[in-house]
Amino acid sequence: MPGETNIPPPRDRHVSKVHIADTPITLRNWHKHVNWLNVTMIVLIPLYGCIQAFWTPLRLKTAIWAVAYYFFTALGVTAGYHRLWAHRSYTATLPLRIILALAAGGSVQGSARWWARLHRSHHRYTDTERDPYSVHKGIFYAHFGWMILKQNPKRFGRTDISDLNADPVVVWQHRHFLKIVILMGLVVPMVVAGLWDDWWGGFVYAGILRIFFVQQATFCVNSLAHWLGEQPFDDRNSPRDHVVTALATMGEGYHNFHHEFPSDYRNAIRWYQYDPTKWAIWCWGQVGLARDLKMFRENEIEKGRLQQLQKKVDRKRAELDWGTPLSELPVMEWEEFVERAKSRALVVVAGVVHDVEDFLKEHPGGKAMIQAGVGKDATAMFNGGVYYHSNAAHNLLSMMRVAVIRGGCEVEAWKRPQKEV
Ligand SMILES: [Zn+2]
Ligand SMILES: [Zn+2]
Repeated sequence: MPGETNIPPPRDRHVSKVHIADTPITLRNWHKHVNWLNVTMIVLIPLYGCIQAFWTPLRLKTAIWAVAYYFFTALGVTAGYHRLWAHRSYTATLPLRIILALAAGGSVQGSARWWARLHRSHHRYTDTERDPYSVHKGIFYAHFGWMILKQNPKRFGRTDISDLNADPVVVWQHRHFLKIVILMGLVVPMVVAGLWDDWWGGFVYAGILRIFFVQQATFCVNSLAHWLGEQPFDDRNSPRDHVVTALATMGEGYHNFHHEFPSDYRNAIRWYQYDPTKWAIWCWGQVGLARDLKMFRENEIEKGRLQQLQKKVDRKRAELDWGTPLSELPVMEWEEFVERAKSRALVVVAGVVHDVEDFLKEHPGGKAMIQAGVGKDATAMFNGGVYYHSNAAHNLLSMMRVAVIRGGCEVEAWKRPQKEV
């Protein structure tokens, strides 16, 4: 028939497929929930390396090479993926960008484009449903559970990565990622150890096990750095500062500072704190490989620290009893105060009536001194006229307050207009 087409009826066309991540895990479908590629990369291959290590002798030269290569590839992630591409905390020359892209490729943690995009999402949506590795879903989930289980990419918070797409090194690394992983992750560590005839040792220790340690160290930034330590700059979200995390992550452990000042090229701001990534970037800056190292002004950093300190002080203050708040005290006429003071020891200090009956005997200056103020405005006496009382005395006095005087104090000129009204 003319005009007839094969387009299915609208009802069928609009059936959207539910992502496996949005279905509950059951005994029958659990294997569909598992991201088997990631499990191979971060669980099965490291497990194979651990088993091989049992009968592969570790030679000293290979051990030194493995540690050195660990630092090199970890720096690719911390200085490259994280501080350069995810946060733009400095600009790097083309040779440095190529070296960082290769080094980070050898740590086997996805491409710079993938890594930095998710990390921007993590910063923008920290601790929410849209945070790709929110610690609120559990420390195991933040560490690597989010990679082991398939994720619905639509659920991750969206971020702008136009700058990453405009960087030819990022695009090149993303396009040739698998080749770079094999070359930098396994071939280079093997070939270098081959110089002293330890090809297999190089493969197991500088290759597989080194990859395992770099991966775990990076994962600690998402788990440990959101779980262990202090919050000197802001406590509304989970990031924390701790030296242990810093030691494990090339200085990324000052994570509370980092989440507050993400485009600062430093994570540790004190010279004695461990941040080799910062030291490396600074050195590159000295030799012209890096430029525009961004730093927040000390004044802004101190503001944050002080506000957090103030919050702690306020919380502590709220735990203590400071006496009945002035706004909750009844208002008393001066004449009523004078009348009541005849039967009970009441004194007025700074417009507030205090009941000192039970304190007469305990007064360090003697009963007579305090009695001299009963039924009177003792403000001047209390504040230096007779004795300049301590801070503790002021605090103690505030515990005895029972009323406020209408008009504030005994001044006749103030009382008169009120009476006339
Ligand atoms: Zn974080
Ligand atoms: Zn970050």
